[in-house]
Amino acid sequence: LPLLLACSLFFQAAAAQKQTDLQMKTFVDGLIQKMTLEEKIGQLNLLTSGEVVTGSAVSTGVEAKIKSGQVGALLNMTKVADIRKAQQIAVEQSRLHIPLLFGLDVVHGYKTTFPIPLALSCSWDLEMIERSARVAAIEASADGINWTFSPMVDIARDARWGRIAEGSGEDPYLGSRIAEAMVRGYQGTTFADKTNILACVKHFALYGAAEAGRDYNTTDMSRVRMYNEYFPPYKAAVDAGVATVMTSFNEVDGIPATANKWLMTDVLRKQWGFKGFVVTDYTAINEMTAHGMGDLQTVSALALNAGTDMDMVGEGFTGTLAKSVKEGKVTINAINTACRRILEAKYKLGLFADPYRNCKGDRSAEIFTPEKRMEARKAATESFVLLKNQQQLLPLKKQGSIALVGPLANSRANMTGTWSVSADLTQHPSLLEALQQQVGSQVKINYAKGANLTADSILEINSTMFGRSLNRDGRSAEALRREALDAAAKSDIIVAALGESSEMSGESASRTDIGIPDTQKELLAALVATGKPVVLVLFAGRPMTLTWENEHVPAILDVWFGGCEAGPAIVDVLFGDVNPSGKLTTSFPQNVGQLPLYYSQKNTGRPLAGNDKWFTKFRSNYLDASNDPLYPFGYGLSYTTFSYSDIRLSANQFKRGGQITATVTVTNTGKYDGYEVVQLYTRDMVGSITRPVKELKGFQRIALKAGESKQVTFTITENDLKFYNSELKYAAEPGEFRLFIGGNSRDVKESSFTLL
Ligand code: BGC
Repeated sequence: LPLLLACSLFFQAAAAQKQTDLQMKTFVDGLIQKMTLEEKIGQLNLLTSGEVVTGSAVSTGVEAKIKSGQVGALLNMTKVADIRKAQQIAVEQSRLHIPLLFGLDVVHGYKTTFPIPLALSCSWDLEMIERSARVAAIEASADGINWTFSPMVDIARDARWGRIAEGSGEDPYLGSRIAEAMVRGYQGTTFADKTNILACVKHFALYGAAEAGRDYNTTDMSRVRMYNEYFPPYKAAVDAGVATVMTSFNEVDGIPATANKWLMTDVLRKQWGFKGFVVTDYTAINEMTAHGMGDLQTVSALALNAGTDMDMVGEGFTGTLAKSVKEGKVTINAINTACRRILEAKYKLGLFADPYRNCKGDRSAEIFTPEKRMEARKAATESFVLLKNQQQLLPLKKQGSIALVGPLANSRANMTGTWSVSADLTQHPSLLEALQQQVGSQVKINYAKGANLTADSILEINSTMFGRSLNRDGRSAEALRREALDAAAKSDIIVAALGESSEMSGESASRTDIGIPDTQKELLAALVATGKPVVLVLFAGRPMTLTWENEHVPAILDVWFGGCEAGPAIVDVLFGDVNPSGKLTTSFPQNVGQLPLYYSQKNTGRPLAGNDKWFTKFRSNYLDASNDPLYPFGYGLSYTTFSYSDIRLSANQFKRGGQITATVTVTNTGKYDGYEVVQLYTRDMVGSITRPVKELKGFQRIALKAGESKQVTFTITENDLKFYNSELKYAAEPGEFRLFIGGNSRDVKESSFTLL
């Protein structure tokens, strides 16, 4: 009976869906019939707010363009009154009253900012990550935003790339699970719930593989690698029903992604079945002229014909497509198709019935509430990664005195990191303020800035562009340092808040030196030289090189950019109110020369094993550093310790279609309750193409009380062993597999099984 019931419910739902789809088709068909060519092309046009918002330009004549039906969507508006005004112009003053979409980079929260995506990924807590997207959608929708340019799912393995901050790190499996969670969080299950908004997975494709980590740079890779290592998170987002996809700036196989028909049509639509619309990245069509793909008319036609539907800001479509239709370079069919996809997105959101769907009443009471800030604070504590903790220096005791030093110790502007366009940075307590607030009555705090963030002016350009002040202290480096050393002399322990400023990662913020800037490093060396215990609280938007720090500083806590509650969250963790549990999702290199670096590498024919002399000389290594990362993927300490028993397999072989389970017992062997992320990796020992030495296939985040043991079981099926072969066929190949379980990708228990 339950099966019958389930079947009947399924068919009912399918029938209802068919009915809805039919209604949508009838509605959109009717509308398209009424539209002029110019109005259709207008729907493909995404502009910035222009003069609709006082003081904001970039796109010009926006109001008139909306009235004449030349705009389909606007981006970068953050005030609900402006959004209502623009929507009103569209639905009351344009001929066909078609509502606008309002897009924004709501990337890690809206007003309540959560940790940057890279940090969030280090929590390995999918529920929390989904919830962070949900909170963002609730807040953004209250201000009229109905479309977010998130999640960013580009796999990134080169820490020089500043945008590594915006994604979920180096691993396709983890990246895929996070991509799905984010899409669910933003879009929910139905747009009838008006707090749900359209998500946009970006940047399709391979943006994170920019050569040498230089932003926007060329990428070039085999299709086998694309499908196995870089595509999975985009595909996962599509499978999760993401409504829109953004093209990337870079070229793929010699053709910029925005004009790459293989990507936008063959892979995305034909192979993956994507049904939504594709938007370009900011002026990506126009930029193809610089790529050397032809003049604006040519590249606009190339983009449309490739399957790109909406043009962000560049106005290449509105400027040239009508002419291209007349000249036979673009068909009216192609324009209808793109227009239809955009109208369907609007229909699904319910905008034709209710253009102000999410910003009619005043929903400001839902924004930046104490409850949401508490969620952000918890998320931040989960995202921090304890990299080193010699002799249990941490957690600190709530007594005695602390010297809090460093340019990031009292900097509200630097709590949130890249893409906090809608947040009010003045509302985010700094670490110093949080410290005073939370432990100020028990601990004597001696604060000194100690150093400026950097010595160079390049950052000045970057931050003034975003209207931020660097708060440069005019005193000499020497004077600043002396003040810090005085504070240290008066204190039992030193907490040094150092690292990157917000502007040092994110878009167009690639670096060739990914260490702590020299001005701060000199301060750190002087603090270490005092002989007092030093805790390094590291702010960063990327993996950094910390070889010196790892050798000389007893405790290192990576706090990334933790969002609006970063300050309080850091204090929670420093004093042990919360036990850190974050695990790295990117390998930390020993030095920048090792990049790109990732755990799921392949063996060369010259591995490091073997003692014979010839092999010792002619190996795949460096003369001046080992091949190992400083901290491996999956690594992160806790105030407690965990031990793993040997792996027990339910069988040592299984047939296609079958499965086995692998079980370990994890024990909390320390004095604190804590969370552990138990990780499962496999290795395919022989393949028709070379296979990585380890691949993440599963993980579980478990809570363990001090002294407690838990059995953790993973199921392994044929599906987990599949990969794309050289014909791009997705299948598992029979043979021997190794299986590894542990608390990071390096320290694992091992077993093996055979797929028959
Ligand atoms: C970025 C995108 C972003 C877009 C709109 C571009 O420069 O690459 O990630 O969504 O701007 O702000």
